[in-house]
Amino acid sequence: MISPKPVGDIEQLVRERIRAAVAYRQRFVHDTNAYRVVFSEGDFLPGLIVDRYNDMLSLQVLTQAMDSEAMRRIVVSELRETFQPRVIFERVDARVRKLEQLTDKDSGILFARKAEGFPQSGEPFPQPPEFNDQTTTEFQMNGVRFLYNALGGQKTGAFLDQRENYAAAAQYARGEALDVFCYQGGFALHLARNCGKVTGVDSSRPALEAAEQNAALNRREIEWIEANAFDLLRDYSDAGQKYDAIVLDPPAFAKSKRDLPTALRGYKELNLRALKMLKPDGILVSCSCSYHVGNAELLDTVAAAAVDSHRIIRILENRGQAKDHPNLLGVPETSYLKCLILHVS
Ligand code: SAH
Repeated sequence: MISPKPVGDIEQLVRERIRAAVAYRQRFVHDTNAYRVVFSEGDFLPGLIVDRYNDMLSLQVLTQAMDSEAMRRIVVSELRETFQPRVIFERVDARVRKLEQLTDKDSGILFARKAEGFPQSGEPFPQPPEFNDQTTTEFQMNGVRFLYNALGGQKTGAFLDQRENYAAAAQYARGEALDVFCYQGGFALHLARNCGKVTGVDSSRPALEAAEQNAALNRREIEWIEANAFDLLRDYSDAGQKYDAIVLDPPAFAKSKRDLPTALRGYKELNLRALKMLKPDGILVSCSCSYHVGNAELLDTVAAAAVDSHRIIRILENRGQAKDHPNLLGVPETSYLKCLILHVS
């Protein structure tokens, strides 16, 4: 649904909604040049995601209504006027396109400031994906620097929704920290400010390679381990390994309602292992990005893990997604990320 009333001038409406979304960010987003500019239903533009990474914009089209060339032209024109970006990319999520019965499409460049040897609008990305000056940039959040590769990674490249949670978690963590499901090092790099030793774990080698580049950019030494998190947590907890702070930020285990029981078992297992490995007075950051797992369900699951591991938990912060992913009170579907910051004794 775009509007409860008949819309005369769709171009006008889309432009106004993009402007309203931009104004909202200007008011509520600080300390970063990377954030979500348009969050679909959260900004009354269903099926349109636009992320800014410094001088680049990366957008995703996820519904039939947004998937016309006319609509792309309007969106690109408005974004160019507002941001004067170097490049606007469209990143295609093949799974969603199939689900929404959209025709197959490649990721591509919607707009690029003229530069030699660079594909112009409408041309596909160079294959295979490669790092070069025109497809990469650098962005910062909370004073931490990150490399951005428009061609690589998940979502549109980074997990911008955790931006405020990185800063919140970093306030409490001390000593030795373990960032499980670390991706390109978002939590690990923030924790490294106050923690003497930080280890990041992920099963994706490309993610860890990007994480190491980010660490170098920030002159941090972080240990990166390529492993299945479930196996590693089992081995480390059996071996009696201990940490002062542990972050759990797994992928969405419940992609649909049907997956809920299995997903909850997964969250329970991870949290139980982490609780066993935390030193007294430790910090657990426990996240879930499964829309189908509600805040209360995640809290119940962690509480059950606390009972099993005989630990006492105090809730320091019960957080959600960053404010550039607006959470509409009347549209619960716009709320999906949970991030519990817990004191464990
Ligand atoms: N914390 C990250 C986002 C994590 S996304 C951030 O803030 O940027 C989830 C990550 O889990 C992905 O990087 C994915 O590669 C990784 N992953 C998925 N299954 C895994 C598994 N079984 N073991 C370890 N990592 C896994």
